[in-house]
Amino acid sequence: MEKKYSIAIDGPAGAGKSTIAKALAKEMGYYYVDTGAIYRTVAYFLDLLGISPKDADGVGRYIDELTVGIEYDETGKQHMIMNGMDVTDEIRTQDISQKASLVSAHKVVRDMLLDMQRDVAKHNNVIMDGRDIGTVVLPKATVKVFLSASPEIRAQRRTDELIAKGQKANFEQILKEIKLRDYQDSNRPIAPLKQAKDAVLLDTSNLDIAGVIAEMKRIVGEKIPL
Ligand code: C5P
Repeated sequence: MEKKYSIAIDGPAGAGKSTIAKALAKEMGYYYVDTGAIYRTVAYFLDLLGISPKDADGVGRYIDELTVGIEYDETGKQHMIMNGMDVTDEIRTQDISQKASLVSAHKVVRDMLLDMQRDVAKHNNVIMDGRDIGTVVLPKATVKVFLSASPEIRAQRRTDELIAKGQKANFEQILKEIKLRDYQDSNRPIAPLKQAKDAVLLDTSNLDIAGVIAEMKRIVGEKIPL
């Protein structure tokens, strides 16, 4: 089998991971794997069953009844399939963001999803984003980048994004949620959010999207011919 390249992008919520990863994947012809969407699918499934994301017994009891699938449509967009049902749109709410952060702390959940993520990278050139890609999922990734930005900048971007979509957005509330998620994701015992020792830190606070993409290409280009 021909050698596959993998680009791991980790960082906190709202740092711009998915926007950048999507753009780069399109340009390079790589698969973009949004691993947050996988945890969101688990959170959504348990939520439908009325299981609290903090209830370790409940999570352990029902997790085997879930089959998670990842599919790509002709535009390259990732779809999440929960027991045969496409839940790609349903999982993108603030409520599910918060529940995914709690659900993802359980060992049983992380164990179940690990091989599935590694498998995609084994068979394809990938750009994978998440919290533990460079540290746990793909420790030998060809390129590792840790994308960050201040909580205030991330909250402002999220607020602007929602307003642009014609939705209501409260900056203070969004900032509070971002800080809570940062705390939960960084302080859990298993696979916490942290920069891998060999990852390049890219602070996007003072860059626009084009600026971040240019920086990413420079970093990636050092390891992979573009
Ligand atoms: O990236 P996104 O905001 O969609 O992720 C939702 C939640 O899933 C995160 O807050 C985090 O707790 C969890 N997650 C994780 N490991 C990953 C990706 C996401 O624990 N690799």
